[in-house]
Amino acid sequence: MTDVYDHWIGGAKVAGESDRTADVYDPALGTPQRQVRLASTSDVDAAVQTARTAFATWSQASVTARSRVMFAFRQLLVEHEDELAAIISSEHGKTIDDAKGEVVRGREVVEFACGIPQLLKGEYNDQVSGSVDSFSFRQPIGVVAGITPFNFPIMVPLWMHPVAIATGNTFILKPSERVPGASALVAELYKKAGLPDGVFNVVNGDKVAVDALLEHPDIAAVSFVGSTPIARYVHEGASRTGKRVQALGGAKNHAVVMPDADLDFAADHIVAAGYGSAGQRCMAISAVIAVGPAADTLVDKIRERTHDIKVGVGTDPDAGMGPVVTKASRDRIVDYIGQGESAGAKVVVDGRDLVVEDHEEGFFVGPTLIDHVTTDMSVYTDEIFGPVLAVLRVPSLEAAIELINANPYGNGTAVFTSSGEVARTFQRDVHVGMIGINVPVPVPMAFHSFGGWKDSLFGDHHIHGPEGVRFYTQAKVVTARWPHVSEESLAALNFPTAH
Ligand code: NAD
Repeated sequence: MTDVYDHWIGGAKVAGESDRTADVYDPALGTPQRQVRLASTSDVDAAVQTARTAFATWSQASVTARSRVMFAFRQLLVEHEDELAAIISSEHGKTIDDAKGEVVRGREVVEFACGIPQLLKGEYNDQVSGSVDSFSFRQPIGVVAGITPFNFPIMVPLWMHPVAIATGNTFILKPSERVPGASALVAELYKKAGLPDGVFNVVNGDKVAVDALLEHPDIAAVSFVGSTPIARYVHEGASRTGKRVQALGGAKNHAVVMPDADLDFAADHIVAAGYGSAGQRCMAISAVIAVGPAADTLVDKIRERTHDIKVGVGTDPDAGMGPVVTKASRDRIVDYIGQGESAGAKVVVDGRDLVVEDHEEGFFVGPTLIDHVTTDMSVYTDEIFGPVLAVLRVPSLEAAIELINANPYGNGTAVFTSSGEVARTFQRDVHVGMIGINVPVPVPMAFHSFGGWKDSLFGDHHIHGPEGVRFYTQAKVVTARWPHVSEESLAALNFPTAH
């Protein structure tokens, strides 16, 4: 175990000055497989200075040149899909198919960024006054940073850097120290795609690196995705130093199941959305709200389906879900299940004792279903981030909406129904940013923007899509006059108005 992930600064691997490292685990085996460097403040500064120098030329590159790099990068992501998925699976634990899914969804943001000439078209008004025209356009903001979580090692960073780079900024990525592998390969692919050195940089690290980014005076903006406490911290820290910031936090996503829904369809999709990626998706369903008579049948149908889920190593083609990311995660999830049980909820399916053959030390938890959960139980109030579905029972749609709106998180939610009226009431009244109608994981496509409400997002911009273009650019409005030599000047001391 000698391999160490370096930083990537100025188009090359860099060891940096810090001698701190962290282990990168294989969660299926429960043992370290590599190490990753943890940057010091001066390592971060080296990356910022490099990105700042690169900004001087990259921000002047033509929009077509920037678009061409994105087309080439997109093609390389296609060619390296298997390799990327294998790296992600080995460090995160998710199945290979699931990992490929995130490569594809992330690549779609690159496809969006390929159209940057169209997206950056400004606006023009001819003759806003006599011989005066007015037009507006957007320019890049400088060196921007992205700080990302473990659960989507390539997709979440891809929500950020293609849009930031295509709009003419230079970028510093601080990926999760638990899953640095995909970012190391992405850096090399950008170089192969023709991106000039210094435009995309990777600084590996922990809180020290994050704090250095937040404090650095030469960083113009920070995009963060991770848990709510750290999102709040990043939002406050970056705001204090005058940066633009979007900080996406954690979630507790509810699926409401109405009695008029097709319960087989709902159970299929809730199982996929609750247990896929071992529940470690920010858009995973973790609370099922069964309305009226739907409850008993729905719980039975979910229970039956959990028996068909094979839990195994990510490379096992039959596995539906892999391990969770760390031993600490496993212990936390197991503890929450116990807390639910002690509080009086009924553990219908219990994944606590699951052991995967030949992987006895792996961080596995089986699918778990807990019924009769109430809103005061920690199994409901806290984001567990594991394969645990909590079922709450309410009498009506109104009660379901009230319950969701009382929850501090507001990332995603879904309703299963065959009624258009129910769907419309739900989509209009619920205080959540992303809503699925018979769609359990309503992650917006790359050409829309992604973002939650309440404690799931701090800042006023959603990420990628049109809001991403706005976040990484600033507007300019030009008012221009090219007078004829003979023209009367019309200069006056009063405030100018159109004539
Ligand atoms: P995390 O908050 O622990 O870590 C996210 C990033 O913050 C990492 O890069 C990490 O190194 C850094 N970090 C961790 N602790 C820090 C500290 N004390 N000070 C400064 N920086 C720190 O999140 P995670 O465990 O990697 O990821 C899971 C969380 O991310 C879940 O809460 C999940 O809901 C959330 N998430 C949200 C979205 C979304 O779009 N809203 C998407 C994916 C994940």
